[in-house]
Amino acid sequence: MSDFKMLIGGNLVAAEQTFEVINPADESVAGYAPEASDANLDAAVSCAKQAFLTWRYSSNEERGKVLKAIAKVIKDNAVELSELLSLEQGKSQSQAQREVQQMAGDGAAARAAITLEPEVLQDDEQFRVELHHRPLGVVAAIVPWNFPLGIAIGKLATAIMTGCTVVLKPSPFTPLTTLKLGELIKDVVPKGVINIISGSDSLGPKLSGHPDIAKISFTGSTETGKRVMQGAAADLKRVTLELGGNDAAIVLQDIDLQKMAYPLFLGAFINSGQTCVAIKRIYAHEAIYDDLVNALAFIASQVKVGPASDPESQLGPVQNRMQYDKVMSVLAEVKANAEKGEGRIVAGGETHTGKGFFLKPTIVADVKEGCRLVDEETFGPILPIIRFSDVEEVIQRANSTSYGLGGSVWSSDVTKAAEIASRLESGSAWVNQHPNLTPFVPFAGAKHSGMGVESHQMGLKEYCQVQVVNIAKSA
Ligand code: NAD
Repeated sequence: MSDFKMLIGGNLVAAEQTFEVINPADESVAGYAPEASDANLDAAVSCAKQAFLTWRYSSNEERGKVLKAIAKVIKDNAVELSELLSLEQGKSQSQAQREVQQMAGDGAAARAAITLEPEVLQDDEQFRVELHHRPLGVVAAIVPWNFPLGIAIGKLATAIMTGCTVVLKPSPFTPLTTLKLGELIKDVVPKGVINIISGSDSLGPKLSGHPDIAKISFTGSTETGKRVMQGAAADLKRVTLELGGNDAAIVLQDIDLQKMAYPLFLGAFINSGQTCVAIKRIYAHEAIYDDLVNALAFIASQVKVGPASDPESQLGPVQNRMQYDKVMSVLAEVKANAEKGEGRIVAGGETHTGKGFFLKPTIVADVKEGCRLVDEETFGPILPIIRFSDVEEVIQRANSTSYGLGGSVWSSDVTKAAEIASRLESGSAWVNQHPNLTPFVPFAGAKHSGMGVESHQMGLKEYCQVQVVNIAKSA
């Protein structure tokens, strides 16, 4: 029996079946989540459809009020939510608190201020032409396991602020915190506006393929995103896809290493490297290459990796067995290449014996393109550092990937760095930081990293249909 219930039409609903959620720190069962039946799915979509009939006409003020009430519930229950998040996701206590308090709590409150207003395109003696953004209807919000609550809130807030209703599905690896959120917000959200259902692998395609879904907001891997888009084509469902990345950080020779080594390290290893916009490749100029490698290896050796139950832990495990196996197979290739003299591990890399999916921050120097570690999105605590000598050439190397999520340039010369950053083929290009996302700034993936935009008014427009009301005044 599950302690967790789904939120359907304003009621907490148990399912006949449950599935295990595994704590990645020790492989024990963290909890049991409801396995939504087809009837549960239909009920959730139908409640959302019913609620849309009235919620679509709510004012921005009403919408903002609901969102602020959700933000308050998150803040008031931050301790319980962040403990649960650490338990199922594996992230350290401080990182879980940050996700709950800042990404989810502050994020929801901030998004209450982001609204769409009608525009008057023409108003003269003959015509008045108004541009409106009408809510699309029921949104299927599909979330991955790396930032379960932070990503869910972005989607819920966008639905609320546009007058859409939503059926949210967390990842089967991390459903518990999201289900708990549903229980906590039950009485502050109008019935049916937010529905939360959980289930294992088959639920995602069933939800995104449901005929009463008008819009799919998907965050996850590029491969799954392509399948979602294929499925959506049949009835022209609108889609926003936030997908994988292989972000490059280009470090120029005039960088202040004392100041920037730690932000570079965090940019790569925060959430144990399981961040879509983590630095996944560092290109370091040959003049500072050895110093940067040594500085990052030193920081890596000082970091405490362990279970979130230990308050000293700074980084947690890889989130699940499947992902761990993938990271370990990339590491096996790195080790095999190193034996041939191609690349060397300068920090981490040791095999973890014992329970849990742990790998210490692993840094690989003297590598280049042509191996999985550099060419693919590993999505774990393992980072290649690649040597370069020519800026023009390194821009091409950074761009020679099918991904285009984020990228960054690091230098004491901010103007020069910004000019280079503007040539990166990525939706976000940062200077002397990586990443930096807020609700007020559009977030978009170029190339195979996504389609559409999240956050900012541009993100709201993705949940809306443009309608032009064109009035001839001569009645
Ligand atoms: P995933 O694609 O395996 O799963 C994401 C979600 O989709 C899960 O809820 C899953 O149950 C669901 N799903 C699976 N198959 C589906 C289908 N056919 N139809 C509909 N839904 C389906 O991704 P993941 O392993 O959970 O997350 C890691 C990936 O997510 C990485 O590639 C990472 O870069 C990416 N990601 C991207 C962003 C971003 O904003 N760009 C943010 C976080 C994670």
